[in-house]
Amino acid sequence: MREILHIQGGQCGNQIGAKFWEVICDEHGIDGTGRYAGDSDLQLERINVYYNFVFGQSGAGNNWAKGHYTEGAELIDSVLDVVRKEAENCDCLQGFQVCHSLGGGTGSGMGTLLISKIREEYPDRMMLTFSVFPSPKVSDTVVEPYNATLSVHQLVENADECMVLDNEALYDICFRTLKLATPSFGDLNHLISATMSGVTCCLRFPGQLNSDLRKLAVNLIPFPRLHFFMVGFAPLTSRGSQMYRALTVPELTQQMWDAKNMMCAADPRHGRYLTASACFRGKMSTKEVDEQMLNVQNKNSSYFVEWIPNNVKSSVCDMPPRGLKMAGTFVGNSTSIQEMFRRVSEQFTAMFRRKAFLHWYTGEGMDEMEFTEAESNMNDLVAEYQQYQDATADEEYDEEEEEERDAE
Ligand code: GDP
Repeated sequence: MREILHIQGGQCGNQIGAKFWEVICDEHGIDGTGRYAGDSDLQLERINVYYNFVFGQSGAGNNWAKGHYTEGAELIDSVLDVVRKEAENCDCLQGFQVCHSLGGGTGSGMGTLLISKIREEYPDRMMLTFSVFPSPKVSDTVVEPYNATLSVHQLVENADECMVLDNEALYDICFRTLKLATPSFGDLNHLISATMSGVTCCLRFPGQLNSDLRKLAVNLIPFPRLHFFMVGFAPLTSRGSQMYRALTVPELTQQMWDAKNMMCAADPRHGRYLTASACFRGKMSTKEVDEQMLNVQNKNSSYFVEWIPNNVKSSVCDMPPRGLKMAGTFVGNSTSIQEMFRRVSEQFTAMFRRKAFLHWYTGEGMDEMEFTEAESNMNDLVAEYQQYQDATADEEYDEEEEEERDAE
């Protein structure tokens, strides 16, 4: 068995982690007591992929420095002990997944500390994160851009793949599409759990495409630092509501590529896809799925970099999520994600220019240098996305030709 060790930290991480387990237990026919009560062999075939869970404690007062350096650092060894024990019990651990927010102190600061410690101890295992990016639309505190930027600095180096869950986009989907006047965290988390279930579907049910964390990374990551994924889900439904009408495959495909269905506040039409992968769930014709996916690419060819041929993959899983006849999840590596990083970066810089609130961090022993480094690492990331957005096949070709000529 190829297990994934699940870790959740902080208030948000624990909320979305608990919701994730609720949904996947249901999908695999596991009841509240942990017993199997399902009705399909498919539910059990790969049930051991997801393992036990460990959790950290809340209380870092939205201060990344407390989570990463002071209070979190005191707790980290006992968390690592549990991680080690669970890892030893695995048959063949494929990697780790961490659920956390980036705007607070614990999930953000201590979460990224744990990620770096795990990377040190298990350098050849995969590290996947479900990272909730902060938005002023649902924010707790003004220092969230600081915490998020310090975290991104860590995630660029120490995570292999990050599923971006942007509270700004989640709020907009609730407000604009689902017509919820005052979206709560419960409403946002409903979208998150549907997305997490969709993203992990390929890992949990039998199939070929992206069937483990490494294959997912190989297909989606052309350059190691660019591992922040935009995720789309269709059909969007609010908590407790039902979709009575089954969608057609063309409708589903259209929706899952739609900017309005992305869990990240960035418009794919402002950038280009380096790679993408889609997982359809429910009873439908694979042939029709393939046709529709090709159709999207042919009609929108300028939004896909031409220097990675066949950069879109799709698969069909028989089992739909609860309450739906069919659903689709889209995972894209789009250069337009820079829009979200730019947003956080602008908020960071506005405060950092005046060193506002810095004393809360330096008071915990942090050096101002780390802020400067985090800021420039995120700006570099934005520049790298832009560079590949502008790159054309011809340019690459010329460069190669030049190299050949040099060699001669
Ligand atoms: P921690 O306990 O110190 O890790 O802090 P939090 O997890 O409360 O981090 C605060 C950030 O997480 C803010 O950006 C909040 O908007 C966000 N947040 C907190 N709880 C939730 C939640 O249940 N769902 C979502 N989507 N975001 C949350």
